[in-house]
Amino acid sequence: MARHSLIRVLTLSLLAVAWLAAAAQSEVPLGRLPDTVRPTGYRLELSVDPAKLEFSGHTEIEAVLAKPARFIFLHGRDLRVSTVQVQAGGSTLAARYTQVDESGVARLDFPQELPAGKVTLSFEYTGGFRTGAEGLFHAKVGGEWYAWTQMEPTDARRVFPGFDEPGFKTPFTVSVTAPASTKVFANAPEVAAATAVGGSVHRFAPTKPLPTYLVAIAVGPFDVLETTVPPNAVREKPLRFRVIATRGQMPRMQLAAAEAPKLLERLEAYFGRPYPFEKLDFAASPLQDGAMENAGLIVFQDALILLDPDARLGQLRSFGDVSAHEMAHQWFGNLVTPAWWTDIWLNESFAEWMGNKVSSQWRPDLDIPAVQLAEAFSAMESDALGHGRPIHQEITDSREIASAFDEITYLKGAQVLSMFESYLGPEKFREGVQLHLARYAYGNATADDFFQSLATSAHDPHLVPAMRTFIDQTGVPVIGVHETPGGLTLTQARYHPLGVSPGAPQTWKIPVCLSRGSNRSCTLLETASASIPPIAGEGPLVPNAGGDGYYRFRLDAASWRQLIAASPKLPTREAMAVGDSIWSDFAAGTGTFNRVVAAARALGEHSHALAATELAQHLEGLARSAFTEDEIAGYHRLMLSIYGPRLAAVGLDLRRGAYAADPAPAQALRQSLVPLVALEGRDPAVRKQLAAAAAASLGGDTRVLDDAFRETALAVAVQDRGVPFIAELKEALVKSSEPLFREDAAAAIGSADTPELASAALKLAFSGDLQSSETLSILEFLGRERGARSTVLAFVDDNFARVLHVVPGFVRPMMVSWLFNGGCSEEDLTKLDTWARSRLKELGGGGLELAKTKERIGVCAALRKAKGTEMAAVLSSPTAASPR
Ligand SMILES: [Zn+2]
Repeated sequence: MARHSLIRVLTLSLLAVAWLAAAAQSEVPLGRLPDTVRPTGYRLELSVDPAKLEFSGHTEIEAVLAKPARFIFLHGRDLRVSTVQVQAGGSTLAARYTQVDESGVARLDFPQELPAGKVTLSFEYTGGFRTGAEGLFHAKVGGEWYAWTQMEPTDARRVFPGFDEPGFKTPFTVSVTAPASTKVFANAPEVAAATAVGGSVHRFAPTKPLPTYLVAIAVGPFDVLETTVPPNAVREKPLRFRVIATRGQMPRMQLAAAEAPKLLERLEAYFGRPYPFEKLDFAASPLQDGAMENAGLIVFQDALILLDPDARLGQLRSFGDVSAHEMAHQWFGNLVTPAWWTDIWLNESFAEWMGNKVSSQWRPDLDIPAVQLAEAFSAMESDALGHGRPIHQEITDSREIASAFDEITYLKGAQVLSMFESYLGPEKFREGVQLHLARYAYGNATADDFFQSLATSAHDPHLVPAMRTFIDQTGVPVIGVHETPGGLTLTQARYHPLGVSPGAPQTWKIPVCLSRGSNRSCTLLETASASIPPIAGEGPLVPNAGGDGYYRFRLDAASWRQLIAASPKLPTREAMAVGDSIWSDFAAGTGTFNRVVAAARALGEHSHALAATELAQHLEGLARSAFTEDEIAGYHRLMLSIYGPRLAAVGLDLRRGAYAADPAPAQALRQSLVPLVALEGRDPAVRKQLAAAAAASLGGDTRVLDDAFRETALAVAVQDRGVPFIAELKEALVKSSEPLFREDAAAAIGSADTPELASAALKLAFSGDLQSSETLSILEFLGRERGARSTVLAFVDDNFARVLHVVPGFVRPMMVSWLFNGGCSEEDLTKLDTWARSRLKELGGGGLELAKTKERIGVCAALRKAKGTEMAAVLSSPTAASPR
């Protein structure tokens, strides 16, 4: 490995010298390429043996020069290009390829000026397999080697030279030579296979026009489960559908094969257009981070699509909403592609919103709309900071692209879309979506194009300007609600927590819906304040009816009391909105900690898991950062006093299938209470029960522990049984071929909560026999444990190169927040600054993450300063604090 990269550095620097002479002529484009050349088609011939360290390629690109050129810029990253030829105007010439920027910008110099018009560029090259999910990556699973690709956003350039931007859509004709024992998959159907030198050559049909980031292949001795999705009202032909996984997973492939077509058909019905490609494959990879919507060949993290028949609720939910999300991209993203990364929100906000919509139609009992709302609230936490980005953000430098794939794009975006869908009415909104797809099918579109489609179908001049106030602006509005004898006065302002200074005043055009009992009143609040008529009916006023709005609200003390008292019986999403607004009012310095605790107790009586535990995550957040060491025991007592009685009331039998006959919401409630009572409340009896079950199940008795409680049980055993158990768990992980067990085990190893345990966990995590994604997961989980944090940081510093090796470039910038989010003091800020100064470049960016993490530390410090005494009083006598 070391020798390999040394050679690469030397080659690059020699070439760089040659290139310097010509460098003065032009600036290296770190954002969009100049419009002098446009590709019209690719032929990719790859030789891929996943067991090797390198692959090789022959790439031919048909392109058009807009004007005569001596050189052009294109993309290629860490490729060793041996030969480049250009065919132009009837002659073939040798060209010189030079990578001129580490982000993967390359320059092609021609021996003479080429005339404007058609050219063909041919490259011979080799490249290295990656060990994390970026570019072409490989892994050994069950003793055999496999390879997959992850190109988005800018890693296609690690696999082939090209014009690696979403605006360039062309057909790709792909062929792959691979060992005869392997199967090969690509975006389009395979049309021919033949024996060749070094294995078999697999040829695929030309694709529909695609951008580089959607190109994909998978190579290995996979198991394949094939089925067809029958024709329906919008699709005339049956569709070939396959689930692909590493060998031995066949029993876990059945559920996805049976259920994914149901999600697909709902999407087709919504869009009123058939699935836009020739076939659909779901491929599972242990290294994939989440999932990737490659046209016709979606790659998922193993546990997302490999499910046992009795899969637990959380896994079913993730399967449903992630696979619906990725399939929604086949229209939003793949059929119609953003012209540039600035509009990546058009992909991600839509896929997220559609994924939630379709998966909750598929399994209404899974409470997916409540999950979506919880995610919207987490986006609000980030959006409330001073350093943020709007959903729609100009991107000028490729190194900023990764940071556009954040909670704002996905989660704020989804909630904003659902708010405006609800404002406009689902049918009109859908007409706008369908019109947009019809206008730009197989092409590119911008945000303005989308807004025009929506405006055309909406016939409402208010819609687009109102949406833009949420898409182009950062921040979360807070709506003040005051009841007067004549009606209601609504005010709006930007919400900011303590520690974030208020900027210039902002207003939004907000669809506000309020309810009282079954009466609902909606208005578009366009100014800083407005009056509306009273809302008749019984009971307290709920200022975010249905939890549909992307805003928080503020009430007077008496109205809060009424709302808290009513919260156990409110609809789930409304109850969650009450919890979020009570938390945010406290974080802004206006609410009290007593009110937070009172609301947590009241909501704790709710029948739905996410409402019952809405405030738990905020209390957990305080325990990770704001509470002092001395206060932690009080925190455990507080959590136990809130959630312990509820768990006792619903009962806890850990045996496999004990609650299989219960309705999903009842199961979900118990499942979310167990970690709160065991890990946050530290209930000794529940912990003993869990640790014993964990040990027995690891010993081979599979009946004693249901999967639903496994992650918590293993975590408790890691903390209570210590190093020997961690070692035993790691051995079990390495031996297991069950993706979900491996995930649970990695998370549990990451819950080591003392320096000694954390050191042992890190040693095992980096022992080399885990998948890189698992090592990464242990590292990330350890970063959340306050007792492990300094050990993790020291380890990362001592082993920086090894750590970077398991973190794909795409997620590297986020390391800043994993490692420092727990900070709450000036000292923590200084430590972060020093650390980041020398690391940021190697992390490939992270400026925004750094600014946000610093701000979070400041927010925590300000909250401590203002509310420390209040919090300490409650924590010293947790059960006493429950005034409603
Ligand atoms: Zn997506």
